[in-house]
Order: sequence, then structure tokens, then C-alpha cells
Amino acid sequence: MTERTPHTGSYYAATRHDENDRPSLQDHIEADVCIVGAGFTGISSALHLAEAGFKVVVLEAARIGFGASGRNGGQLVNSYSRDIDTIERNYGAELGKALGDMAFEGGNIIRERIEKYNIDCDYKPGGIFAAFNKKQMLELTEQKALWERYGHTGLELLNQDGIREQINSNVYVGGLLDHTGAHIHPLNLLLGEVAAFESLGGVVYEDSKVTEVVRTDAPVVKTAHGQVTAKYVLMAGNAYMSGLIPELAAKSMPCGTQIVTTEVLPDDVAESLIPNGHCVEDCNYKLDYYRVTGDNRLLYGGGVTYGGGDPASIENFIRGHLENTFPQLRGVKFDYAWGGDFLLTMSRLPQFGRLTPSIYYVQGYSGHGVTTTHLAGRLVAEAMKGHAERFDAFGQLKHFPFPGGRLFRVPYTAVGAVYYGLRDKLGI
Ligand SMILES: Cc1cc2nc3c(=O)[nH]c(=O)nc-3n(C[C@H](O)[C@H](O)[C@H](O)COP(=O)(O)OP(=O)(O)OC[C@H]3O[C@@H](n4cnc5c(N)ncnc54)[C@H](O)[C@@H]3O)c2cc1C
Repeated sequence: MTERTPHTGSYYAATRHDENDRPSLQDHIEADVCIVGAGFTGISSALHLAEAGFKVVVLEAARIGFGASGRNGGQLVNSYSRDIDTIERNYGAELGKALGDMAFEGGNIIRERIEKYNIDCDYKPGGIFAAFNKKQMLELTEQKALWERYGHTGLELLNQDGIREQINSNVYVGGLLDHTGAHIHPLNLLLGEVAAFESLGGVVYEDSKVTEVVRTDAPVVKTAHGQVTAKYVLMAGNAYMSGLIPELAAKSMPCGTQIVTTEVLPDDVAESLIPNGHCVEDCNYKLDYYRVTGDNRLLYGGGVTYGGGDPASIENFIRGHLENTFPQLRGVKFDYAWGGDFLLTMSRLPQFGRLTPSIYYVQGYSGHGVTTTHLAGRLVAEAMKGHAERFDAFGQLKHFPFPGGRLFRVPYTAVGAVYYGLRDKLGI
């Protein structure tokens, strides 16, 4: 028996609703679709495909939700990491409209699934983008107009008094409240989706790291002790794929970001921080994001480490950020601290495509992937059912390697981030 990989030391892993191990692959089997990676991209696709009657097998190197999907801030942020206006500007009105029309679909898929499969994942509505200066406020005003052009309603600009009513902190000048933003316990959402997938006959193998994908017409996906022959394969390993597919690794870069959760706070303290229970992300280039969990902890994340991995002490790193936002929590005890990697692309737009007609990939959500992974799952299933128009619309986005190549891309990108960070501080 293969030794089981432990989960991360996250708050999510400690409070997950399903602690059952899945077996590791020890056989040669066949499936309609083999998916590599049991995060939101893989499982969202698997569930859409199983609902459509496909026989689907998911191979996971470690545990379900071991990657970013089981570690993230849990914020359902609408649209993409680069907004629709960038797509309109660089690719024209037609592609802008095609992708803009899909920008709010991922959040709806999540809500539909929670309802349909009765998934208990601490769903709470409302997401706030918080501005530190006038320039960021102006950008939020433009974002509201842009999203409204694409039919997204429920957006509310907050002035300084308005944001003080939402967040008990002095550091912001205003913000934008998206009433259809939301937050969740991401690992419990994912495990709920896995349960739905398994109830439809789907199978997930854990501790089954894919070591090779043979690019034949019916591709063969190999692990140390087994293999799957499938009509279609989906590569959904995102930042954790470590060069398995070199052409994908060249055009993306893993980046780390870290989170802490405090001890359980008394009801009145927890309620006083964010009285309406929304989640918050600020507008800085290297942003902080936070929310109060279902059991009254402040969950606070921030920072980016280019190239992936964590700083020496996550607690020290995040404490300064947290106490700057909420000085009233100075010295609060942290119960959990962890990091995770997301996958950055040069354009900050996601990468959808095929390596061969039967091997698909989706990756590179650039820090905002909870909703887009769910959209991606639907589009992958549509494409494998023979309706690839919406998947191929994303495939039209062009992706380039980071400047500096494998050796210098990290320092080059870090220098760029210092520049943007400085602009944030100066409000220019
Ligand atoms: C700390 C953190 C906070 C974040 N906060 C937010 C947020 O609040 N809101 C938001 O929208 N986005 C957030 N993100 C981004 C979001 O979590 C990701 O975009 C999204 O989860 C990506 O999902 P995925 O399934 O593509 O990848 P992952 O969840 O990383 O899953 C990939 C899986 O593939 C497996 N795998 C890799 N290689 C192999 C292999 N060879 N064989 C088999 N399996 C393999 C991995 O073990 C992993 O489980 C955050 C990310 C991080 C790291």
C-alpha cells in the first residue's frame, strides 16, 4: 500500500467534512475522460462531464484539494484577474463580448451546485473591493460601469462613511460592494462537489501522481503503479504540475501567497470587524484579502512570493498586514498559518487550449480562480460534448513566456511588482 500524503496544515484541512482517503491507482483502466488534478478545475469539469453521462476518472498526486483549491481565501470574485476592458482593448469588441458575457457565470455555477447537491460550505454573500486612495476609487467606479455594461447588477459604490460601516478599519477611503460576490469554505465546497461526482459513478484516485501523458489518439496517462487510457484527457494540475508539460510551464509562473486564521473570536469582536459578514480584498497590486469564517475566526491572507513557496515565517509576515488593518486585534493568537501556490500568466488571463485534439488544458487564473475554474469546468464539458465555441473563445487569447526565461523570470517579475507596489503606496 502506498503511504498516504498528509493534507496541508490549513484551517480548511482541519475542519473538512470528509476525511475519507481515496485509493491510489494500481491498475490499467479505461475511461471516457481522464482528468489530472483534483482541484476546482479538475473536479468542476469532472462533475459537469459525469452529469452529461461520461465515464470520468480523476488522478490526484496528493489529496483532493491539496493544491490552491483547498487552501485559498475562499472568495468568489467575479470576472477575471485582468478585466473585460483589457480583452476588448487587445482583442476587439467581438472577443471582449464573448468573454465578457461569461465573466459572471462561474459564481452562478457555484451557487447552483451548493443548492442542487446541498453542499455545506459556509456560503456567505457579498464581496468588497476596498480602496486606499482616490486613484483606486476611480478605478472601482470604472469597474462598476464596465460590469454593468455586461449586465452585472448588485454593485454599490461605498464612500468613506460607507466603507467604515462595512469594515471596522481606518485605512480605506471607499470601496465597491458586489452583492453577488461571496465567500465559502473552499475545501468543503470541493469535497461536496466530489461527493456529487462520486454519486454519479465518478472515481477519484489520490496519491496517484501522473508521471507521463502519452500523446496518442487515445491518450495514455501513466502513474507509478497504473495507467488510464481515455478518449480525452484534461490537464488540471495548475501551479502544482512541476514541468510535467514543458510547453505549459514555459508560459506561466507559480506564485505563493499566505494565509493565517486567528483563534475563534468572541461573537461581538467577530461581528464588529466586518458587521455584514462580507469578504474583502483591497485594491493594491499585491493585495490583502480577508473574511470572518463560519466559526468566527478572522482569516487573513496577503503577499505574493514569485516563483512559489513561503516566507520563513508566515505568521510574522501576515501579522503586520493584519494589525495594520485591524489595530484592535494587536497580539491576537493565530491557530493556523499556511501557504499555497497559484499560477500567474503574463497577461493575467487564463490559458485554455489543447495539446492534441484529445488532450485539453486549463490553467493560470492568476490569483482569482474560484469562479473561473467553475466556468472552465462547464466549457471543458461543452467542448468534449462537441460544442467547443465558448472554450475556443478563451483559446484565442495569446500567451507569451515571462521575460528573463526560466532563470530570470522571478527577479524580473519581482522588480515589476516593487514598481507597482510603490505606485500603490503613492496613489499614482
Ligand atoms: C493561498 C491562496 C489564496 C487564494 N485565494 C483566492 C480567492 O480568495 N479567490 C479566488 O478566486 N482565487 C484564489 N486563489 C486562486 C485559486 O485558489 C486557484 O486559481 C484555483 O484554486 C486553481 O484551481 P485548480 O484546480 O486549477 O488548481 P489546484 O487547486 O492547485 O489543483 C491542482 C491539483 O493538481 C494536482 N496535480 C498537480 N500535478 C499533478 C500530477 N502530475 N498528477 C496528478 N495530480 C497533479 C495537485 O496536487 C493539485 O491538487 C488563491 C490561491 C492561493 C494559493
